[in-house]
Amino acid sequence: MSDHLPPPPETGCRNAPLLKERGQREVFCGLTGIVWLHRKMQDAFFLVVGSRTCAHLLQSAAGVMIFAEPRFGTAILEEGDLAGMKDAQDELDREVARLLERRPDIRQLFLVGSCPSEVIKLDLAKAAQRLSARHAPHVRVMNYSGSGIETTFTQGEDACLEAMVPELPATDAHELLLVGALPDVVEDQALQLLADLGIGPVRCLPARRVDEMPHVGPNTRVALTQPFLGDTLAALERRGARHVPSPLPFGEEGTTQWLAALAAEFGVDRDRFERVTAAPRARARKAIAAAAETLRGRSIFFFPDSQLEVPLARFLTRECGMEAIEIGTPFLHRAIAGPDLDLIAPGPTLSEGQDVDLQLDRVRAARPDLTVCGLGLANPLEAEGLATKWAIELVFTPVHFYEQAGDLAALFARPLRRKELLKVGAAATAQREIGA
Ligand code: SF4
Repeated sequence: MSDHLPPPPETGCRNAPLLKERGQREVFCGLTGIVWLHRKMQDAFFLVVGSRTCAHLLQSAAGVMIFAEPRFGTAILEEGDLAGMKDAQDELDREVARLLERRPDIRQLFLVGSCPSEVIKLDLAKAAQRLSARHAPHVRVMNYSGSGIETTFTQGEDACLEAMVPELPATDAHELLLVGALPDVVEDQALQLLADLGIGPVRCLPARRVDEMPHVGPNTRVALTQPFLGDTLAALERRGARHVPSPLPFGEEGTTQWLAALAAEFGVDRDRFERVTAAPRARARKAIAAAAETLRGRSIFFFPDSQLEVPLARFLTRECGMEAIEIGTPFLHRAIAGPDLDLIAPGPTLSEGQDVDLQLDRVRAARPDLTVCGLGLANPLEAEGLATKWAIELVFTPVHFYEQAGDLAALFARPLRRKELLKVGAAATAQREIGA
């Protein structure tokens, strides 16, 4: 299908040995997901039940808040709450009542658990039930955990979407459900491609507004747009929905195979598929080729962070000519990552979980051209002369589907180009000094 690429390897990495590590890890907690979820769900509010640390994390991850009325906040647990559980529940009820009175635009309220609320075992599920009964039908109250004890940063989205699944109405209709919070502009591109292929009706989880929430049932077919939604997928499967497995829609090949799996499921003929995808595929290929000039032949090492590591390694090795040394991921969900793993030639170490000191030893020994890691590791590694890419950028930047494929490749090319420029600059300065 993608005839400019090497043929798929005879044996991919689906059954490759997995290095499992369970030690200290350096990853953001699941509260981070609120930053992109609150932008997506326009009538939702995320109330973190946590500490001042949680409030600071959210404020700094979200950058400067320019909204007059933000759609997230923190109900701060004070020291006194640790002693009096009933007082904490009463205070939460009062806080929610005050919020909803002031903000009639809120239709869905998420109580988001944190490390402190978990440590004191504050029952947010019960609180959500109680508050839902009190504020229905105008507001639906749900809960999930974003705590650093339980979640890494993209798991926050998984936990949030999973919490919504039991609330979705039942249906028998043969519909496609796109699962994953994409920026609106990217989601619109995907919907247009699917409409041009004649695939539909298509619904999205999460929907932009509560009135557009999808229905779910035995004829629902699920297409994931993110690899980190394993718990949401399991909850949908419990409602009878069926997953359509495919590589994730990153790059030209990933997008084409993702669409092809759906085309097969919905009976789209080959001519129509070629007609609809030919032009955007050509555009994506051209855009990737420009960035791939910098990437070809370079090595890459992934620390476990966003769970995007496997599909990105597939994209970078197959479409950009990079060589993966280690593909670390916080969790490996083989049913979801399997089609991407099938396309990765054997060779890289596949690791799950983290023991950060051991992994730092491996990256120092390998000295890859590019290391993808969290913010906390990037600066020390840069100081040791390694070029790094912040994993979190991959979640905050539109990178899915054909029109973003070039930008995705460019995200990885940029740190390599910067390093080259710094080298050239340093050499020129040295020359000048010698000359002087
Ligand atoms: S949930 Fe835990 S890890 Fe996350 S900011 Fe709050 S205290 Fe820190």
